[in-house]
Amino acid sequence: MGIEMKNAPRILNGIEIAAEIKAEVAAEVRALAAAGITPGLTVILVGHVAASEIYVRSKVKTCAELGIYSEMLTPPDTITTDEMLALVAGLNARDDIDGILIQLPLPKHVDTRRLLEAVSPEKDVDGFHPINAGRLQSGQPGLRPCTPAGILEILRRSGLPVAGQNAVVLGRSDIVGKPVAMLLINASATVTVCHSRTVDLPSFTRQADLLVAAIGKPGFVTPEMVKPGATLIDVGINRITDAAEVESFFPGDTARAEQFAKRGSTVVGDIHPAAFALAGAYTPVPGGVGALTIAMLMQNTVAAAKARRA
Ligand code: NAP
Repeated sequence: MGIEMKNAPRILNGIEIAAEIKAEVAAEVRALAAAGITPGLTVILVGHVAASEIYVRSKVKTCAELGIYSEMLTPPDTITTDEMLALVAGLNARDDIDGILIQLPLPKHVDTRRLLEAVSPEKDVDGFHPINAGRLQSGQPGLRPCTPAGILEILRRSGLPVAGQNAVVLGRSDIVGKPVAMLLINASATVTVCHSRTVDLPSFTRQADLLVAAIGKPGFVTPEMVKPGATLIDVGINRITDAAEVESFFPGDTARAEQFAKRGSTVVGDIHPAAFALAGAYTPVPGGVGALTIAMLMQNTVAAAKARRA
């Protein structure tokens, strides 16, 4: 009588992979410096959104660590669309600025779409401009959205197969779901995209060799929705503040309980932690996909500098 042994799932450490990418970017920055070029990034942060302020500060800090020049513009939240357009036009015209990042969300009265389209596609380090979305779709080189590009880096650097895999993406946002689906298609996966109108979503997820969850619903993907041995990529970042919910996601996890007691919240992804136990490999939350986004922004900034100036 055989006893079935399952190997422990492999944890895909986003922090380590991000560190590897940042070291490569720093080396490229040094090579550019030898040629008299310092890549430059401007981040525009409108008003005071606490979460955005944290993200922007870490972007600026990472630039400094890697030798990238950065500046932060902080217009008040009364700024108009026209004033923002003028700001972007000024940055488009500057030779020392290679990347322009408009931190989202913007105040409701500002026309986000018009602004994102006003950024020069060559400086669009977020990869949100329609020209870059088109380049991605047609498989041409261009600046790719950071979080989806980070997911492909995790897979590539971990030696996980993509070509020929049955990939299921949960979520169809312009920021994550659609571009990651396109990157996976370009990498020869067979891709299904599910969303809030998908009928019998678990019947799709159970077929997935590679499951990417990007919907913003804590613990949405439960163990019965997962194919054993699958690679699970969890993009979700959901802050939970209810003690009973924390206990239901992380029963017996004393480190989480201590963190929750200290901060009054903890972060959980879109995949239920119990589902990770069935995976062949998975990205933890935190410390998985989220760790890659800034590293990919740095990579895009240097790529933009090289394409424009080197
Ligand atoms: P989003 O714009 O709100 O899009 C959510 C997507 O999920 C939509 O396509 C929606 O479908 C789908 N969805 C919602 N509820 C669903 C359900 N019950 N069943 C199936 N599909 C459902 O979100 P996003 O910007 O893509 O972000 C998704 C998650 O990733 C969030 O937790 C966010 O915080 C996180 N995120 C992380 C990073 C990072 O790690 N750096 C970056 C970006 C986002 P419909 O289109 O039909 O409405």
